Amino acid sequence: MDKNTVEIKNLRKVYRVGDEKVVALDNISLNIRSGEICCILGTSGSGKSTLLNLIAGLEKPTRGTIKINGNHIEKMNERQLALFRQRFVGFVFQSYNLLPTLTALENVCLPLTFRGVKKQIREKEAARMLSAVGLKTHINHRPTQMSGGQQQRVGIARAFVCKPSLMLADEPTGNLDSKTTREIKELILKLAREYQQTLVVVSHDADVASIADKTVHILDGNIEKIEEKS
Ligand code: ADP
Ligand code: MG
Repeated sequence: MDKNTVEIKNLRKVYRVGDEKVVALDNISLNIRSGEICCILGTSGSGKSTLLNLIAGLEKPTRGTIKINGNHIEKMNERQLALFRQRFVGFVFQSYNLLPTLTALENVCLPLTFRGVKKQIREKEAARMLSAVGLKTHINHRPTQMSGGQQQRVGIARAFVCKPSLMLADEPTGNLDSKTTREIKELILKLAREYQQTLVVVSHDADVASIADKTVHILDGNIEKIEEKS
């Protein structure tokens, strides 16, 4: 039996802006199975990034629970969350979030450094991962010396290098042209399948949904419908 990797119950997130309350997520309940490819689809402002950030433990819910691999992450303190992310979670950002002063190799080494992997081994692992994303010849380039697509490949290598069981991607192709978008989407999918990871990818583009096992449509902080491929 597949166990649920991500179990979300009655999740609510309210932001306060001055005297105003913004209900970013209203009442979200959702299960994502181990190894599943799940697409979160919705227009801008519908709450997609908020949902992903809550799953990553980057923000605290106002109400509700999130259980990942058996751990209640809404109950963890910052230190526990940092360890949890290190062990289980990879994150691919729309704007790559690479450190500009570091080379591709050094950027991809970072998560291994946090895990205490020795220099020689982490450089070998990072070089292997960069090669897997098609950047063998660019390992010593800095972000400004690479195209958007190449920078995102570095971002992907960094997210996947520790082979975390849960991969989260927030509009990973949002800043790329259509040809590069296709390549990057296929790359993320290929790696996630190869490493048997659970993948949650946020998009405002129905095209991504075509590759997913499950598509969660969100509208104004609520789940509108869930489509599952049989
Ligand atoms: P999406 O990723 O689908 O575009 P978001 O999750 O970023 O949507 O935002 C959902 C809603 O929550 C929006 O109305 C947004 O303005 C609001 N919001 C998001 N983050 C914050 C924040 N840190 N402070 C206040 N409001 C926020
Ligand atoms: Mg967003």
